[in-house]
Amino acid sequence: MTIYRKWYCSCRGTPAELAIVETTEDEPVEPTCQRCGASSSSDPRHTITYKDFETWDD
Ligand SMILES: [Zn+2]
Repeated sequence: MTIYRKWYCSCRGTPAELAIVETTEDEPVEPTCQRCGASSSSDPRHTITYKDFETWDD
């Protein structure tokens, strides 16, 4: 089983899924909203939400 997390930003009124851009392997991967700049660790307007999904494929 694998759990993965999808991130959303609701700065436009409805939650839009954020693309996670991977940088280097040493850096934590942080989803950032391309529209308002909010991220999972910097969310001054509290627009960032997430959902966890489980897959049983493996
Ligand atoms: Zn946003």
